[in-house]
Amino acid sequence: MKKKLKPLLIVISAPSGAGKSTLCSRLLTEFNHIIYSISCTTRAPRGAEIDGKDYFFLNDDVFDRRVQEGAFLEHAVVHGYKYGTLKLTVYGELSIGKSVLMDIDVQGAAQIREYVSKVPADDLLKNSFVDIFILPPSINVLKERLKGRAEDADEIIEQRLKNAEMEMADRNLFKHQIVNDKVDKAYAELVSILDGEKSAATG
Ligand code: ADP
Ligand code: 5GP
Repeated sequence: MKKKLKPLLIVISAPSGAGKSTLCSRLLTEFNHIIYSISCTTRAPRGAEIDGKDYFFLNDDVFDRRVQEGAFLEHAVVHGYKYGTLKLTVYGELSIGKSVLMDIDVQGAAQIREYVSKVPADDLLKNSFVDIFILPPSINVLKERLKGRAEDADEIIEQRLKNAEMEMADRNLFKHQIVNDKVDKAYAELVSILDGEKSAATG
């Protein structure tokens, strides 16, 4: 039976390859009241990614127009491409009692942290926000995982590894941190954190 969580805005960040997608997919399969926040990006689809399911793939002009309109809750340049979360996505789901899972980089997480600190007490984001940083056991393991995933060219992997050091420097800004060594253990920690954030699981 699928479980249900009390509405939360779950922000997960990690260096690319640390295992965010693996852990997030599992959470989304197990808890059908958690909705994945589909981001916008200017990068091209990778592997079997589908527009409107994995990302909204936008060109630069459309992305910039959305920025001008103030449509994004947060947006940032990551690995040379623009990424952003639409306000409509997050508020839309929270307003109907769903939890929202965001897989975003450390810059985006910082913007949301700042945003949440400034919204009034009755804003939907005020008491729902929880931020979690996923760490690889080591940089070498991260490299192996990126290679093993076999989705990125060598130079892209090198760029992601460079960024990883920078991203990991921000890990202490997150309320929770999980080392993804054994995936089952990391997943159990993730669920336990969400339970601890008063996300009572009901059958
Ligand atoms: P991210 O979404 O953070 O970029 P992924 O979830 O795509 O990372 O994981 C990167 C690669 O590492 C994938 O091939 C995935 O199957 C593998 N992986 C994830 N977690 C673990 C783990 N705990 N142990 C071994 N391999 C893992
Ligand atoms: P990828 O291209 O591998 O899917 O994602 C690259 C990085 O962009 C990851 O660190 C991911 O968390 C981040 N990212 C994805 N969507 C967003 C978003 O909407 N905003 C921000 N700030 N980062 C994002």
